[in-house]
Amino acid sequence: MLDQNLKQQLQGLLGKVPGRVELQLTLDASAESRELEQLAHELAALSDKVALASAPGNAKRAPTLEIVAADRGTRISFAGIPSGHEFTSLVLALLHSGGHPLKLDDDTQRQVAELEGDLDFDIYVSLSCQTCPDVVQALNMLAALNPRVRTTMIDGALFQPEIEANNILAVPTVYLNGKRFSQGRIGINDILRKLAGNGGASDKALNRRAPYDMLIIGGGPAGASAAIYAARKGLRTGIVAENFGGQVLDTIGIENFISVKATEGPKLVASLEEHVRSYAVDIMQGQRAREVGAKGADGLFRVQLESGATLRARSIVLATGARWRQINVPGESEYKGKGVAYCPHCDGPLFKGRKVAVVGGGNSGIEAAIDLAGIVEHVTVLEYSSTLKADKVLVDKARSLANVTIITDAQTTAIDGDGARVTGLRYRDRDSGDEHQIALAGVFVQIGLVPNSDPVRGLVELTPFGEVVTNRKGETSVPGIFAAGDVSDTAFKQIIIAMGDGATASLGAFDYLIRSGTSDVTDKAA
Ligand code: FAD
Repeated sequence: MLDQNLKQQLQGLLGKVPGRVELQLTLDASAESRELEQLAHELAALSDKVALASAPGNAKRAPTLEIVAADRGTRISFAGIPSGHEFTSLVLALLHSGGHPLKLDDDTQRQVAELEGDLDFDIYVSLSCQTCPDVVQALNMLAALNPRVRTTMIDGALFQPEIEANNILAVPTVYLNGKRFSQGRIGINDILRKLAGNGGASDKALNRRAPYDMLIIGGGPAGASAAIYAARKGLRTGIVAENFGGQVLDTIGIENFISVKATEGPKLVASLEEHVRSYAVDIMQGQRAREVGAKGADGLFRVQLESGATLRARSIVLATGARWRQINVPGESEYKGKGVAYCPHCDGPLFKGRKVAVVGGGNSGIEAAIDLAGIVEHVTVLEYSSTLKADKVLVDKARSLANVTIITDAQTTAIDGDGARVTGLRYRDRDSGDEHQIALAGVFVQIGLVPNSDPVRGLVELTPFGEVVTNRKGETSVPGIFAAGDVSDTAFKQIIIAMGDGATASLGAFDYLIRSGTSDVTDKAA
């Protein structure tokens, strides 16, 4: 199951682990059980720090692999085979359970250690979901640090009846002690805040932060680049971001990031984060900015966070990117996560063998249809205009697939459901005016992106599309507030362009700080 190269790498990693771990297996007669058993044997053969338990495990689901560190009292479980994107989660769980240091700051580790009560997390994933490992790994870190936290990754494709009983139609979905806890990407800081409730200790600590020279809102390519440029100028730099990586985390293959022939989104995000963390940048992840206020008499901007905390800064770089555009028809909000989905890579496997629709006939819509066609029974693509906007090569491929139907001039008018999940979609033929209904289990919305400019709406000038208007220095209509990347009116929305914009805005803000005579910044520039 593991190739020679991988075995050698794992042997090297496990050799550095100080403690011992035991692998407990709960198996049944299935082929998957045999596969998991083989994986466990191969792992145990790699290091004397990893042993197979002599007695069978008694997990709720079969097959399950549990990593038990008896001396630390921790237990991390995987129900199903942690392959695909979850293989890294398995390796990290082994290392962290064995006492390998976690890449978490001291404050976060202290907060995790102080968690009280028994916290039993079930994390439903699909093995093709790119966001899922982040959530699994964040929760597993909690479990590796605090024995009162237990985690189980559950492969939704393997435990379909459970998925259906819980009505899970989007991953990652997390349950805590049997109750739904979260759906979608969630980082360790979000989890801690959710467990503590808003207004917890970490939010009070944020209020006490000294003013930043430059506060960057957003941790995608634009924000990361702005932060590196600011920190290299010696500025007191902060990044406040809902999550680090932005849209890049949702990108499978990247082949146009110049100097790197081919890479994957999460890999690029990891090196971006490593680069930013190599400088003195205060990264506040899991925090969402609600509103940027006008400059006060003290020369400071105040940024209000959803958590209730307020940050202060002499200059602001808005790099909040963009989010999926919604179709805004009845049923869309109601059935989000219950059949209405935006990430085909993540949620596609949950619709295995069922009928779905893709709304949108651009590149992302047609790519989604091609991907989904390999998993689901049938895909209907609905395009509003009379022609598809996707590249010809993609359209040809989609048209060649027997289980893909493309309908143009189709205006989606409603998404129907039975109260618990999607059952169909209605559309109007824009040519004839006829109304149609299609019975299906899922609707993937792929109609482009909308800029996340809400925190500055009403403060700075926006284009009619909601993008922040910027000049060639990244300046907005308000001196001291800069914008970069997909949230701005930059002509093209790409990773490398967002990074360039971030650098421009950061240098623009540095220039502003010098010219506005902020004394300590002027000292740094001297
Ligand atoms: P984003 O990447 O959107 O990052 C925004 C950041 O802001 C995130 O950290 C987010 O959490 C944070 N944020 C948002 N709102 C708030 C708030 N209120 N408070 C705090 N934080 C907030 N480009 C390429 O060059 N090559 C490709 O192959 C490619 N493929 C793509 C595939 C997909 C599926 C998608 C969706 C995009 C793709 N792109 C690609 C485009 C590219 O990802 C974007 O242009 C780029 O990520 C924009 O960077 P950004 O930093 O401006 O914004």
